[in-house]
Amino acid sequence: MLDIVVRYCAMHPKVRKIRQAIGALNGLQNYFHYIADELGIDEGRWTLGRDELSWRDAFQRCSDYSSKRRSVVYVIEAPFDDNWFSHEEEHISVITTSDWEEHYAPPALASYLCYQIAQASLCFEAELTEDMELRLVHETTNGCMFDMCEYKKDIRIGMSAGVICPSCKATLRMYGTGEEVLDAVRRILRYVRQDAVGMRELVRWNAAFVVMRFTEFDENAHAYEYGIQPALKDVGLACVRADENPPHGTILDSVCKGIRSSRFVIVKVDEQNLNVFFELGYALGLDKDVLLISEQSLIGHLPTDLNNWTCLTYTKGDYKGLRNAIVNFFKDKYRIA
Ligand SMILES: [Zn+2]
Repeated sequence: MLDIVVRYCAMHPKVRKIRQAIGALNGLQNYFHYIADELGIDEGRWTLGRDELSWRDAFQRCSDYSSKRRSVVYVIEAPFDDNWFSHEEEHISVITTSDWEEHYAPPALASYLCYQIAQASLCFEAELTEDMELRLVHETTNGCMFDMCEYKKDIRIGMSAGVICPSCKATLRMYGTGEEVLDAVRRILRYVRQDAVGMRELVRWNAAFVVMRFTEFDENAHAYEYGIQPALKDVGLACVRADENPPHGTILDSVCKGIRSSRFVIVKVDEQNLNVFFELGYALGLDKDVLLISEQSLIGHLPTDLNNWTCLTYTKGDYKGLRNAIVNFFKDKYRIA
């Protein structure tokens, strides 16, 4: 995991969209942890306005604020005098929002920021020097995240493709970039691509859709009522159930919509219910963040296909234990608390 601080002035005219981008970046993956840091007007004045900044000037000002050991992305309003979208050096990246909405959107400003911040994050993670990064850059636009984009509008080709080309991936692996990192960036790029081609689905980053056989007054019902539901509340996640939202179509429509629009899908798999397995397959196919839950004594009965998935277990009747285990899972894996 890598912490990356995203700094911007609280007076930035696009502040709401910057916050939206940070929310999406944290919701899409859990390798990079983005920490919003809003500068006051005194500290952040230089980032605002329409006066052109040289990269050297910008870097100098960033260095004043940044500890050398932290990776920091600055989002500024001021344009660069060389007309670039962003610059990077050491563990500092500066991205300008200048002209985006006037000349390049759509895609939305938040998607542009996700795209630029994802690229910066890869460079931080791989500790790329300028020379190493130059070896990745394509002078001719081919739809890769590392296109130079001499014609600035070409950035939209990269955002619509939403990929790191095989050659750049191979180079990044050679530099030691792990699969977990590439997967985190892939998830961000998928979001950017969906927006760029006008097919973005609205996902609630704080929602967990619960898949199980809903019953009353039995072990299953108690596990939900005293374990799953309060645990989600403890970590600030909205607990969503298909039967709690009167469907406009069929129950299946409601289930599919609930899974698509939630970041997390929690599945109680121990009842061996075919509907539950169908919904689990749907969630896995959509690359959702899935948490499996089973009673300890029933785990041996799960289908072998699920053997490779982490399954959180609890002892029958120990709902407090179940609640704690779910809370710890989200704290440890997603830093949600
Ligand atoms: Zn490439």
